[in-house]
Amino acid sequence: MTELETAQKRAEQLREQLHYHSKRYYEDDAPEIEDYEYDQMLRELEKLEAAHPELVTPDSPTQRVGGRADAQFAPVTHTVVMESLQDGFSEDEVRDFDRRVREAAPNPQYVVEPKIDGLSVSLEYENGLFVRGSTRGDGQVGEDITVNLRTIRAIPLRIKQALPFLEVRGEVYMPRESFLKLTEQQELREEKPFKNPRNAAAGSLRQKDARVTASRGLSIFVFNIQQIEGKTLSGHQESLDYLKTLGFQTIPFYSRYDDIEAVIGEVRRIGEIRGTLPFDIDGAVVKVDRFTQRKTLGSTSKFPKWALAYKYPPEEKQTKLIDIEINVGRTGVLTPTAVLEPVLLAGSTVSRATLYNEDMIREKDIRLGDTVIVRKAGDIIPEVVSVVSHLPEALPYAMPKVCPSCGAPVHREEGEAALRCNNAECPAQLMRILIHFCSRDAMDIEGLGPAVVELLVGQGLVRTPADLYRLRAEELEPLERMGKKSAENLIGAIERSKQNDLSRLIFALGIRHIGQKAAKLLALRFGTMEALARAEEGEMEAIDGFGAIMAQSAASFFALPQTAGLLDELRGYGVNMESLEKPQSDVLAGKTFVLTGTLPSLTRAQASAMIEKSGGKVSSSVSKKTSFVLAGEEAGSKLKKANDLGIPVITEEQFMDMMGEKV
Ligand code: NAD
Repeated sequence: MTELETAQKRAEQLREQLHYHSKRYYEDDAPEIEDYEYDQMLRELEKLEAAHPELVTPDSPTQRVGGRADAQFAPVTHTVVMESLQDGFSEDEVRDFDRRVREAAPNPQYVVEPKIDGLSVSLEYENGLFVRGSTRGDGQVGEDITVNLRTIRAIPLRIKQALPFLEVRGEVYMPRESFLKLTEQQELREEKPFKNPRNAAAGSLRQKDARVTASRGLSIFVFNIQQIEGKTLSGHQESLDYLKTLGFQTIPFYSRYDDIEAVIGEVRRIGEIRGTLPFDIDGAVVKVDRFTQRKTLGSTSKFPKWALAYKYPPEEKQTKLIDIEINVGRTGVLTPTAVLEPVLLAGSTVSRATLYNEDMIREKDIRLGDTVIVRKAGDIIPEVVSVVSHLPEALPYAMPKVCPSCGAPVHREEGEAALRCNNAECPAQLMRILIHFCSRDAMDIEGLGPAVVELLVGQGLVRTPADLYRLRAEELEPLERMGKKSAENLIGAIERSKQNDLSRLIFALGIRHIGQKAAKLLALRFGTMEALARAEEGEMEAIDGFGAIMAQSAASFFALPQTAGLLDELRGYGVNMESLEKPQSDVLAGKTFVLTGTLPSLTRAQASAMIEKSGGKVSSSVSKKTSFVLAGEEAGSKLKKANDLGIPVITEEQFMDMMGEKV
């Protein structure tokens, strides 16, 4: 093979991999590799293409920005392109950048600011009012996510000066605290947790239901003015100061320097405090301050030549694995955790790391006493990257054959990675069942967090969820850190939970594969716990949005004698067993709608809620099963597909008529 052929083969390989990972990252919000690895592959491809310009293809990942806009949101064309940034991975690259800048723009001043690891959005204001917000998409065309952005409190809906027009750019991010809370809930529900705050932010923002976005604790840092009318500004620092006076939450710190060594000093400093910030950053951005100089420098097809993103490598440390602890989850899954000799890593002391499951331990050949490399996945969750060395006498690690909590034998079901303890009386499981039962999305019993549950179980006061309703304030008072007031409050909260809707109770029972949404569907379909407990598997499977595995799991749960006993007890204590949210009407029962375009007065979320309340279903794509396509302005491919398939297309007015309401 000639050198060119070898280069061409490698370039093709890299392109294919980069395309794949780009899709996983931007469109699915589920990356499989670290950003750093992605960036290194992209670098390699850039180098190959620079050496052999004939290898560049128009769709090469080196030539385009970001992902594609999703057809489920209306497209927004960006009048000012939302560019990406050129990267630098070493201090010398920052010096090279300075040299290039000085050739065209003498005596530059630079502003250095943190590079927030989130999702880039544009916010448009007319006469001081927030009118539209969109994602970056591929830089030219993004997605209209106004409804979702409105739920973010840090975005002012009205700014302090009624400028005729303003478009700003910012980064929506999920604070670490919100992320940890979210993944904790996801784990509790045995859903696949988001990998890092960036993906969690992207996934939360691109939601069909704005209520989901609202519940995710997102925030924003605004870092640029894209367009402005009614005010003249001459530099970046000045514009950030001005944005602050308008009421925006701007990038949290920024400072200006004349000298590139001072710039590098600030980049280093930000790198050092990185781990202590309450949000994730993946670098520092160095920007030329004066707008006239920015203009002189111009842009490539992908990024401005007046800015550079310095990317920090993920921090990795070596330490010793002292022990492997096994925890038993609510559904009996055994999860191994590495106990480590504490090391300081990306801003915090790490002494434990998840090992996920038996397969992971085997793949990495992790043994007791190993010297290992650890890092924080997505900069937040500690994990063992690899083993450096074993102790001479160390044997391959074997997972226990019995449950560490109750001693019952453990099983591994076919096709599953998890080992499971199937003993329904296992104390570790009882504990977790109780914690889940009381949690916010389940029975929402305030004050009954894991620590109190542990205390109650430890004192033998509670064994099952029904026992909670037997508790008396006098029994709680003597407990550690409790006192009269908190005991009474707790009893009050337990008492109030009796009035919860049936769907909360179903979810609280912790049935495998039955999350919040499925619990709602069951409550709506059957109306009472009694009817649900009697239901056949087939009846559940027939519910729209239900699958065979869910139906089977729910049916076998209700067939258990313990379940019947528990429900009897709960009923005896006066816990509500009926759905409070009966469908308001069933005029749309059995009908499936697809929404597209912008409706004249309803938001999509409102229209969806109306459909669901009337017994109908909303789907994201048009198929032969679709009953109606509800189309507004700028409806795109879905409208075309509906026409092709001969599906009736209706306007908002016709929809309102159908619902028996006037617009
Ligand atoms: P980028 O993230 O490297 O830089 C551009 C972005 O930085 C802009 O969109 C902007 O919104 C943001 N930003 C944050 N703070 C800023 C500030 N203070 N000033 C200016 N901009 C700021 O580039 P990109 O094109 O968005 O995406 C590339 C990134 O995505 C890389 O980090 C890459 O590793 C990652 N990626 C990862 C995978 C994977 O599989 N792990 C796949 C594709 C892309």
